[in-house]
Amino acid sequence: MRLSAIARIATASALLATLATQPAFGWGRDGHMLINKLAAQNLPDDVPYFLRNGNGLDVMEWMGPEPDRWKQRDAEPELVATQSPDHFLDYEWAIYGATPCDAGTTDCVDGYRFPRKRYDFVRAMQAALPQHPEIKSFETVGFQPWQVEEVWERLKSDLREYRKEVAAKQDTAPVQLAILFDAGWLGHYVGDGSQPLHVSIQYNGWTGPNPNGYAVFDKQNGIHAKFESVYVSANVKPDTDVAPLVAASKPADITDEWTQYFDYLHHTHSLVERLYQLDKAKAFDGAGTPEGKAFVDERLAAGAIELRDLIYSAWVHSADPVQEYHGPQ
Ligand SMILES: [Zn+2]
Repeated sequence: MRLSAIARIATASALLATLATQPAFGWGRDGHMLINKLAAQNLPDDVPYFLRNGNGLDVMEWMGPEPDRWKQRDAEPELVATQSPDHFLDYEWAIYGATPCDAGTTDCVDGYRFPRKRYDFVRAMQAALPQHPEIKSFETVGFQPWQVEEVWERLKSDLREYRKEVAAKQDTAPVQLAILFDAGWLGHYVGDGSQPLHVSIQYNGWTGPNPNGYAVFDKQNGIHAKFESVYVSANVKPDTDVAPLVAASKPADITDEWTQYFDYLHHTHSLVERLYQLDKAKAFDGAGTPEGKAFVDERLAAGAIELRDLIYSAWVHSADPVQEYHGPQ
């Protein structure tokens, strides 16, 4: 397991090096590995050990950048077209597919209620497009939270299967494999969700009126790759900089993962302009500034904490009773 994982990482590293100039990768490879590993390391003791032992941590870490390996346009163009929108949400546009709501009512996040089901959101966006010609197609808005919800539900479903097999004293090795894949896969998108440039139309340079003179679009040397890849890889030490922040937060059982996750995305979105202000002050150039470093460390930790809590709550709620499925009726 370890040797083949290392060989695959080496191959993936070579591939990612050739893609380093392409923007919109979420966190870079290092950031995603760090988030996935720290989340697994900080799971509470009542989560099955295979998610936290040496093999579990290796798989989680390797899976961190996995969906970014599915972005090879010239090799797998159909997969790229379908899965790329799963990595981001252009929040400023997504609200056109939501309905206004009063604070405190069900599913209401900052005045908007988003459809929980992906295709309901697609239909709502499609209906809104004629009034918003700046949006080329519904998929350019992104499906981040829907992807997180769906992969989280896969994880919960497989954990429920694991409980059944443990109770029946069956071999759980196969279902453990599925669970590790689900959890690692989920981690990628949850990690993307802590990166402010993944929840905004300002994803790689400020667009529209720019009175504060923030960085503008630059395909080759834009703010996106500088912030999430170049700066992180050169300056962040996972064990001393980010791990203590994750360890200091108590694991939480999330009772409504949909609304809680939207709150998380909304908070990330509230930090977009702060990121541009820091960038303007050279916070992410070279060794950057202490303010820039604290900002990045906090965002990476926020991703790991959210992932830990989502895995934990998938485990807890995999014990909820369900009606057995007996095929179409
Ligand atoms: Zn991503």
